This record gives sequence, C-alpha cells and structure tokens, in this order.
Amino acid sequence: SLSIGIVGLPNVGKSTLFTALTNKGGLAANYPFATIEPNVGVVPVPDTRLDALAKIDNPARLVPATVEFVDIAGLVAGASQGEGLGNQFLANIRETDAICEVVRFFSDPDVVHVAGRVDPQSDVETIKTELILADMATVEKALPRLEKEAKRDKAGALKLETAKKVFAGLNDGHRVARMDLTEDEIASVYDLHLLTVKPMLYIANVDEDQLSADLPEIDGCAPVPICAKVEADLAELDAEEAEEYLEAMGLEESGLARLVREAYRLLGLQSFFTSGETETRAWTIPIGAKAPQAAGVIHTDFERGFIKAETASFEDYVEHNGEAGCRAAGRLRQEGKEYVVADGDVMHFKFNV
Ligand code: GDP
Repeated sequence: SLSIGIVGLPNVGKSTLFTALTNKGGLAANYPFATIEPNVGVVPVPDTRLDALAKIDNPARLVPATVEFVDIAGLVAGASQGEGLGNQFLANIRETDAICEVVRFFSDPDVVHVAGRVDPQSDVETIKTELILADMATVEKALPRLEKEAKRDKAGALKLETAKKVFAGLNDGHRVARMDLTEDEIASVYDLHLLTVKPMLYIANVDEDQLSADLPEIDGCAPVPICAKVEADLAELDAEEAEEYLEAMGLEESGLARLVREAYRLLGLQSFFTSGETETRAWTIPIGAKAPQAAGVIHTDFERGFIKAETASFEDYVEHNGEAGCRAAGRLRQEGKEYVVADGDVMHFKFNV
C-alpha cells in the first residue's frame, strides 16, 4: 500500500498524531489491522462509499484501502551530519512514497519548542535544509561511481550529467521535486533514492480553535490543519461517539480523513471497488490507470489474462441495487483493455488463467 513517512522537529506532536492515526479506536475499530513494526501503522482509508456498497451486497468482509504511516523519529538540525538518529532516519525515509511533515502551530507554553519559539516557517526551513544536505551527501558519494558509468554508455552519461545538475540545484536550496527536470532525467537518478524528489505534504498541528482558520502557505503549499490532541481524543471513541464529537466541534470529518484525502490528491491516486458476497473492497490506483492495470492491483494473473471488466459507476451501482440490477437496467458496461478507470468504479474482472 501507499506509504507515507511522518517527519518533523522534536515536540511538534508527531508521536501524538501517529498514535492517534494507528489507534484501533474510532474509524479503525472494525478492521483488524496489525502494526507491523513499532514505527509503522497501517491505517484504513475512510470511505463512506464502501459502507454503501456493503449495504447492498452484505459481504462477509469489508476491506478498505490502506495507507501505511511510518514514524520517522529523530530529525533534528544536524541529522544529515549524523546528529541524533541521523542515519537510521535517512534509511527509514528512503522507503516511503511521500513525506509528510508535521509542523507545530499550536501555542501551548507548557510544551517546550526546540528552537525556543513557535515559528512554522523557520521549522520548515530547518527540515528542508537537512533533507537537502542529505541529498547532497548522497550525490557526492555517488559521483566517483557515476564518472565511471558515464564513460561506459549514453545512459551513464545522462546519469552523471543529471546528478551534477541536481547537485547544483540542491546547493542553491531547491528540492529535487521543484527542479526543472525531464522525466528521463528524473528516471536517470532514480536509483540514488534521493529524499527531496518525493512529494511533500505539510500538516499544521494547530490549536483546537485554529482548525477552521486560514493558515499561511508553507513552501508554496496549503498545509492540512490537524489538531493532534483532537485526533488523540477521537481515537479513543467508538464510531458514533466520534461523529458526535466532530459535530460538536463543527467539523465534518476527522483530521485523518482529511490527511488521507490530501495524500491521495498529492500522489494522483483514486479508488475503485470490487463487491460481492465474500468481500466488498476498495483498491488504490493512479488516476489515468487502465482496466488491466487496475486488475493487476488485485492479482498479477488478472492483469496478464485480462479479458474485460464489467463496470458500473458507484452511483449506478447504488441506484440499481447492485450488479444484477445494473445489468437489468443496462448500466453495466463491458470495458476493455483501453478503458481508463474512473474514481469509484465498481468492477468485476473477467480473465483467462
Ligand atoms: P514529537 O516529539 O513530535 O513526537 O511530539 P509529541 O507527540 O511527543 O508531543 C510533544 C508534546 O506536545 C506532548 O506533551 C503532547 O501532549 C503535546 N502536543 C502534541 N500535539 C498537541 C496539540 O495539538 N496541542 C497541544 N496543546 N499539545 C500537543
């Protein structure tokens, strides 16, 4: 599943948020998601459409899409030089699809701020600098090898040239994701596993009364406002209580729901569904994926032997009370290899084994 690394300076609320995200209370109550490692939490993606489908098909199992959050501890100024948990931190973060930075906006004077005062922009700069320095060190270390590869062939030459270009950009204070690189260039340095090439998402950990406030942009992006304390409270409640609590606070959804939605948007992802009496399930695919690729998310055999996908939109599926009803109403489409899957499609794949 999609994996997101949570970073941030000490005392900004990472652990509080991480615990809340991975707590089995609230939304996650009904799902048996285990924590794989102490610092990894698998979180179901909240999606009310799944419940609507389950009402129709009454499945034995309800399986939401999941996002994996990895708590990446110990990023402090100097981490790229091996301060704190520097190296471990870098190893953990390399494996993730995106980086989510928790930034302290809450003012609580009882919680010490590492830099002495609450200053979101400066905190973000600190972390950005560490990530950039780490990437510069990576490129520098790879250069002797890249010089050799460059002499071998064209691909090697592109790699070296791009690495040098990337280094210069980093040196000017830019993340790789923000550099003007072609797809070929980005692909050529893929195996350096640079950190600043990953999409970034910012969480503003705000005071309760800031949850609906307008926040300043961070690094050119709108941060997702979350109150880690509220999330921690929510995680202790059952689904019904959680809903009442949100309502009392004037909120439509939990911070987790907002966070997951933003992460999907940032990474260009969407969901499709499969539904029947055994299982109603949500699957994650990139926007623009075609039917065989969607089938392949379920099983590689489905992709290889793909014949067609009987497809109904989520709305049709609900309106006509399931697959049989859609078929009878002429709302079940036979889609082939070139079909671009739409968000919320309910799909039934036909394939050769
Ligand atoms: P970490 O070092 O980033 O993992 O931070 P922690 O999650 O351990 O939080 C540091 C301290 O800040 C703890 O005492 C938390 O209870 C407190 N804290 C975390 N989030 C909030 C919040 O949203 N509001 C307030 N007032 N305190 C918070």
